[in-house]
Amino acid sequence: MIPTSFDYVRAASVSEVIQLLKSFQGEGKLIAGGHSLVPMMKFRLTTPGTLIDITAIKELKGVRKEGNRLVIGALTTYAEVLGDPLVAEHLPVLVEGVRQIGDIQVRNKGTIGGSIAHADPAADLPALALALDAVVHLHGEDGEEKIPIQEFLFGPFITALPETSLVTAVSFAIPPAEAHSTYVKYFHPASGYAVVGVAAVASKTPDGVINHIRIGITGAGDVAFRAEEVEKHLFGNTASKENIIQASNLAAADVDMGEDLFASGEYRKHLCQVYTERALRAVLLP
Ligand SMILES: Cc1cc2nc3c(=O)[nH]c(=O)nc-3n(C[C@H](O)[C@H](O)[C@H](O)COP(=O)(O)OP(=O)(O)OC[C@H]3O[C@@H](n4cnc5c(N)ncnc54)[C@H](O)[C@@H]3O)c2cc1C
Repeated sequence: MIPTSFDYVRAASVSEVIQLLKSFQGEGKLIAGGHSLVPMMKFRLTTPGTLIDITAIKELKGVRKEGNRLVIGALTTYAEVLGDPLVAEHLPVLVEGVRQIGDIQVRNKGTIGGSIAHADPAADLPALALALDAVVHLHGEDGEEKIPIQEFLFGPFITALPETSLVTAVSFAIPPAEAHSTYVKYFHPASGYAVVGVAAVASKTPDGVINHIRIGITGAGDVAFRAEEVEKHLFGNTASKENIIQASNLAAADVDMGEDLFASGEYRKHLCQVYTERALRAVLLP
């Protein structure tokens, strides 16, 4: 398939992007790495009148440390994340997870902002973002805004991003120094996307009591989610095999599972339990 015809404009600054989005009144779409947008245009699932290329805007690139967070510019590619020393030092789970996204081509082009804005229910980054208490930085007509990831992701391909705003960065909390973290994924055998992906970050006091626990799950439902029942079950308790098994059984509690030709809702629920248990064993009984 080829896309319907469209116009193209290259923006030089964040303020120009906002002006362009305003002037196109919903008919303009940003393009970053193009690895989700272009396939959708080819399938004619989206037919933008104008593509606004944001790849020349330098201020949207790079990684910086601000207090206890790493701020990653929206245009930073997965490959740049993988090669960044700050990310390697402070967010090893992001390296582990991003390494599992697509192939080299996808990782060379795909961007952090593009993935978060696209909100594909089978994408990997949302689970990692939830486990790392991410905050999405936006810029729009009324200036800058910061939205916690749980309030940003609404549903499949649906976010809190206003029509005339763009994502400028995503910031991730640096876990406690003694924390362990992991990302485990059941790859779809054809697409490589997550049928289920579980990101876990946890730490314990010296006497073994869990004092920090975050579990983000992607792929299973309409939108990535925090496994809050699992977290509640474990927080303040000791990390034992028994506790981990009990907690993992709550991984898909109160969440509607997705269903397709490859995996039924029941199977996805089972995968949530199995992959959560694997992730918890890795971070709590390393
Ligand atoms: C073969 C293949 C395999 C893949 N495998 C995986 C995988 O295993 N796991 C995974 O998670 N993903 C996978 N992807 C998707 C890939 O990660 C995408 O590149 C990514 O999700 C989108 O980033 P992008 O920069 O390419 O965004 P684009 O395709 O350029 O844009 C996607 C959407 O986000 C919007 N957008 C982009 N940047 C911004 C911004 N700064 N602010 C606001 N809106 C913005 C666009 O308007 C568009 O609606 C795969 C893609 C391909 C082609």
